[in-house]
Amino acid sequence: MTNDKILVTGGGIGGLTAAIALRRKDFSVTLVEKSPEWPASGVGIIQQFNVLRAMQELDILDDYLAQSYGFDTTMGFGPRGDSLFSFKAPRLAGEHLPSNVGIQRTSLQNILAGKARELGTDIRLGTIVEKWTDTGAGVEATLSDGTSDTFHVLVGADGIFSQTRQALFPQAPQPRYTGQWVWRYNIPRPAEVTGIQLYYGRVNAGLTPLSADLMYLFMLSEEPVGFQFERDNACTMMHKRALHAAPQIQRLMDNVTENAGVVAKPLEAIFLEEAWHKGRVALLGDAVHASTPHLAQGAGMAIEDAVVLADELATGDAPDLALTRYRNRRIERCRFVNFNSLAIGDMQMGKRQDVDPAEINRQCMTLMAEPI
Ligand SMILES: Cc1cc2nc3c(=O)[nH]c(=O)nc-3n(C[C@H](O)[C@H](O)[C@H](O)COP(=O)(O)OP(=O)(O)OC[C@H]3O[C@@H](n4cnc5c(N)ncnc54)[C@H](O)[C@@H]3O)c2cc1C
Repeated sequence: MTNDKILVTGGGIGGLTAAIALRRKDFSVTLVEKSPEWPASGVGIIQQFNVLRAMQELDILDDYLAQSYGFDTTMGFGPRGDSLFSFKAPRLAGEHLPSNVGIQRTSLQNILAGKARELGTDIRLGTIVEKWTDTGAGVEATLSDGTSDTFHVLVGADGIFSQTRQALFPQAPQPRYTGQWVWRYNIPRPAEVTGIQLYYGRVNAGLTPLSADLMYLFMLSEEPVGFQFERDNACTMMHKRALHAAPQIQRLMDNVTENAGVVAKPLEAIFLEEAWHKGRVALLGDAVHASTPHLAQGAGMAIEDAVVLADELATGDAPDLALTRYRNRRIERCRFVNFNSLAIGDMQMGKRQDVDPAEINRQCMTLMAEPI
């Protein structure tokens, strides 16, 4: 039990989960989020049994399951829409729980932010850390709302372009663009889409159920460095990229009619192999290991980081020791997800021939089933 104060920067999936996990261990938590409103956009996310296990540990599983769509089946299709495979993933979080869920990002954010607040997190939207100094005895921080305080530990959960990382490790590698963009759109869920469907060929695409009546369509494209997304032309751009997709995807593209509904993002990645902290300042989630969505585990890794970080800090050991153990417990899983997600993307772009996505997925499942 401790009353030590922790400052978390970033109210994304990682930062909010860290606030919950730290409150569960009785830390006093202040969370600052630079956006004046909760930032998640309206598309969905896939999460796997290891996330269900973490949600169970954080005691938010019921809320989470109530707002998500659980499924076990993964189906694969070839370029002409022909069925390649169908399998049921094992229920590794327990027989009573699905193997995977699809959930809208806004729903996930509402659950996490609601629980963090309910547990007493001091959440400040539209606020950043203007200045911090690690004195050795604590982290003195001045916030943009004019307040200052001294914290036991500062947690940088401020995403792939983390300012905390930049200040902590200015020589660290910068995020890099992988060569792919992903295009997503929420559409009505046909009754037959009861699990994830993956479509391979010249265009790699897929469908993920999110609720009784909603799913999202995602599609990857290869784009040059400097590619410009045009919001006013978004549907046309997405339709152009779907021209050689499997027939099922082409038919569903009829639903893509609103420029505002298209969510297009470049895939970018970063991985810090060495220290994930210095003194009393630690990094978490995409700030230290952002990967591409090919294994659908980026947010899962941020959530697990949060659980392990709170666990280690709650030992009461000196921050340097606790944060070293945090990184050591996380590195293997996060490295696997990062390197192998990038490898699958490279294979899709024809840059590598030695990559077997089915084998990577099998290994990923085995590793994720291990305790964290
Ligand atoms: C296209 C795409 C699809 C994906 N699909 C999946 C999926 O299906 N499954 C999965 O598990 N993962 C997926 N991921 C990965 C997942 O989205 C990320 O790993 C996850 O969101 C990381 O959470 P985070 O909290 O570390 O960072 P972020 O979500 O980036 O949150 C960082 C937060 O910090 C805030 N912030 C930034 N700077 C500051 C500052 N200076 N001060 C205060 N606040 C600041 C930002 O506004 C933001 O709210 C996907 C990623 C992409 C790009």
